[in-house]
Amino acid sequence: MTEGPYFKSNSPERAALLTPDITGTKLVLTGNVLKKDCQPVARALLEFWQADDKGAYDNAGYTLRGHLFTDEAGRYHLETIMPGLYPGRTLHIHVEVQAPNGLVLTTQLFVPGDPHNQSDPIFDQKLLMTVQDAVDGKLATFNFVVN
Ligand code: FE
Repeated sequence: MTEGPYFKSNSPERAALLTPDITGTKLVLTGNVLKKDCQPVARALLEFWQADDKGAYDNAGYTLRGHLFTDEAGRYHLETIMPGLYPGRTLHIHVEVQAPNGLVLTTQLFVPGDPHNQSDPIFDQKLLMTVQDAVDGKLATFNFVVN
């Protein structure tokens, strides 16, 4: 899937993109990186970038940008906010996934039930996160499969 125009290299390594001044609905995204035979991929690189709750990317700094690595069981845990909407797109979070010494998988994650999904030319329902309400925001899961 397209990387889009807002990728920026050299993001900080961190599992929480929440900064003190951030606004919006808290989102905890967890899941696994797996091989096609369902074996976990440890130390897989996951790079995330997204718009803030008003639909704006931080192109000057690294707000809502970061990367992390899966643990020995192939699990990851990201704390962020629900992305905001910007013209021409539905809600989405950009992701790049790379197993150690593997190819980079560039993709996007989507939010179930958003009415803009129908009109977004890039939307793919295979990339819908599973999202549920939590006490202080949303809990989402998504598993990535890489070669
Ligand atoms: Fe985008």
